[in-house]
Amino acid sequence: MRDFARISRGLRFRLTISYALLFTVLLALVALFLRERLAVTLDKQVVENVDGDWRAMKGYMRIEACPELDNKLTTAWYYDQEDPDEITSVYDLRKIFMVADQNGNPIRDCATQELAVSTAYDDIGVEKPALIRQQMREALAALPKQKIFYLDRKTSTGEPVKVRAGLVFAEKHAAPFYVALGNLYTDKKNVLHEYTWIYAGVIPGALLLGSLLGYFMAGRALTPVLSVAQAAQRISGSNLSMRIPTRGAGDELDYLILTFNRMIERLEASFNQMRQFSADVSHELRTPITAIRGQLEVALFTANATDQYREAMFNALQDIDRLSQIVRALLLLSQAESGQLVLQKTRLDLCQVVDDLVEQFQIPAEAAGLKLLADLPPTCPVEVDRVQIERMLTNLLSNAIKFTPDGGSVRTTLLCIPDGIELVVEDTGRGIPTEHLPHIFDRFYRVASKGAAPGPEQGLGLGLSFVAWIVKAHDGKIWVESTPGEGTRFTIRLPNKAVGSGTLELAGKV
Ligand code: ADP
Repeated sequence: MRDFARISRGLRFRLTISYALLFTVLLALVALFLRERLAVTLDKQVVENVDGDWRAMKGYMRIEACPELDNKLTTAWYYDQEDPDEITSVYDLRKIFMVADQNGNPIRDCATQELAVSTAYDDIGVEKPALIRQQMREALAALPKQKIFYLDRKTSTGEPVKVRAGLVFAEKHAAPFYVALGNLYTDKKNVLHEYTWIYAGVIPGALLLGSLLGYFMAGRALTPVLSVAQAAQRISGSNLSMRIPTRGAGDELDYLILTFNRMIERLEASFNQMRQFSADVSHELRTPITAIRGQLEVALFTANATDQYREAMFNALQDIDRLSQIVRALLLLSQAESGQLVLQKTRLDLCQVVDDLVEQFQIPAEAAGLKLLADLPPTCPVEVDRVQIERMLTNLLSNAIKFTPDGGSVRTTLLCIPDGIELVVEDTGRGIPTEHLPHIFDRFYRVASKGAAPGPEQGLGLGLSFVAWIVKAHDGKIWVESTPGEGTRFTIRLPNKAVGSGTLELAGKV
């Protein structure tokens, strides 16, 4: 039972049922249409037959005075009594046949002197005299046009008979007579019945066969989907490097597989980034904690002078600073990731902000033996989040100072145009190798110095991620150009009136 419920929910079952229903409706419609056409054609043939009989009857039969019956008007049949064909024809014509006078009463036959109503006509039922009179009146009124009556009758055994009735005029006599002639068409009716039965048998059979075939074909079509699903199921966090093999058919399924593979690729990259992140964070946190522990232990067990205690505490404080810096950065990161960092935009003079910051960096720059230059217009009014813009510039300037050797220079240029601003921070530092350029805005991405892994002195690799976040939140753009050994240039373009949602969102690379 549960199995059936599961199967009936499946695509294969539903596809089969839909097609079976569709075919049922189509087949039934076609069958009905064909049956109607066949019925019309058969009816036409029956009418043509009875018309032919009527014409033949007029060739053989006269209504004339019969000397044997006091010269009363009777039917008389004229045919070659030696010719078997004619004998059969007349016999057939007289099988379902009757003639009545104007009053609707049957007349007699001259040869047999019996009523001119065949036994078979008796069987299908002679029309009531009133009906005959009524039909004769209608036919007379229609003259000179010939009015024909076609009547559908049945024998006592239920066989169908088509009757043609109309007027026949006696020779040398003006009085019309009512003649009715019938034609049995059981065989034609049988054709229709046979057709109906064949279809009644064929449709369910075809449907059953079609459904089975449909189920089989749907199964075949869906097999690759199942194998893709199984392959996808085998992929887990521990083997994200696995890919679903494409079938080379270049069809929708291959496209789906490719899309899957690309998604797994992205997942793998994020998993790797997360692993790297955990490793980096624990490393970053462990280093100052180990240092603090060491310093405090040394102070506790070996220091005996106040100066030694003070020095140990000073060093521990420095490491605590670094710890809280890391924690702050992580907190900021999580806030940005959950969209909690809301921009507080105000109108301000960006020139002033940049000038103040460059000023603040003068001392560390001088200490590093660098020239810190600023190229600013007199004023640049913008609407931005001051704190975030300061954070952005701080990150760029501290990187530039950090990665530029003694004797180099760092230049900040601000261009203020009516529909936006362009801020460039360029240095003459060590530069960034081309292969690293696409990744430096990724979280925790650090370029290792030649021959060494990225060390703690290089920071967490979050600075540029935040820069990119801030630029994006201001609906701006950032890009970097760098030549190893010559220097690096970061360019930021912000629209003057920042129109973004004001929320910093995380989108992988920020
Ligand atoms: P970090 O905090 O480690 O500096 P960032 O995200 O600010 O992290 O920078 C990522 C990496 O980009 C750095 O590790 C550094 O290798 C490289 N980088 C950033 N700015 C510069 C620059 N001005 N010159 C050379 N390399 C840079």
